[in-house]
Amino acid sequence: MSQVLPSSIAAELFAGRADAIADAARDLALAGWTPATSSNFSMRIDAEHAAITISGRDKGKLGRDDIMLIDMQGKAVGTDARPSAETELHTQIYRRLPQMNVVLHTHSRTQSVASRLFAKEGVVLLEGWELQKAIAGETTHEAALAIPVFPNTQHMPELVAQVDAWLDSGKPLHAYLINGHGIYTWGRDMAETRRHLEALEFLLGCELDLRRLSA
Ligand SMILES: [Zn+2]
Repeated sequence: MSQVLPSSIAAELFAGRADAIADAARDLALAGWTPATSSNFSMRIDAEHAAITISGRDKGKLGRDDIMLIDMQGKAVGTDARPSAETELHTQIYRRLPQMNVVLHTHSRTQSVASRLFAKEGVVLLEGWELQKAIAGETTHEAALAIPVFPNTQHMPELVAQVDAWLDSGKPLHAYLINGHGIYTWGRDMAETRRHLEALEFLLGCELDLRRLSA
């Protein structure tokens, strides 16, 4: 492995995180949610570091060598590898939401189409779906769960600023869509984060079906 770890990070800890990311990525790739090497996944290592997928790799075939260490500014640590262009969106979650330890970002067809359809409103309001309760802290289908849709840009600071503005307003944020692009969601551990991603994929698919059938 070309990754050199700082002495504060045990090799087994990093390897465990890398394996967890690779396992999740394989399943999500199999589901067809990571087309054409897109998508990126990360896990917090400690307050200052996270493990993240290296840019451009096939997410269905990741091994430990496809995961790298970054600091919370999104800079590579102990490797020449290049992290995803969207790394700042991961580290933003770790900095702003200290209880969150995993960030998953995928580009499924459902996520992509829903993001386009709801971009005008700037938000998907999920209401009346039992599966909303799969999101940590949501206890009833009766509450509205807001998933914002932010405009896509290749200039990450603009996206970071929009996420910051939402968080600064005090509204709950469990996930967001980027228009024509995909979804970001997070959780306290890998199992919770995967549950969030699966629930949101399902709920967005339901919203698309509703629109299609009631047209
Ligand atoms: Zn992306």
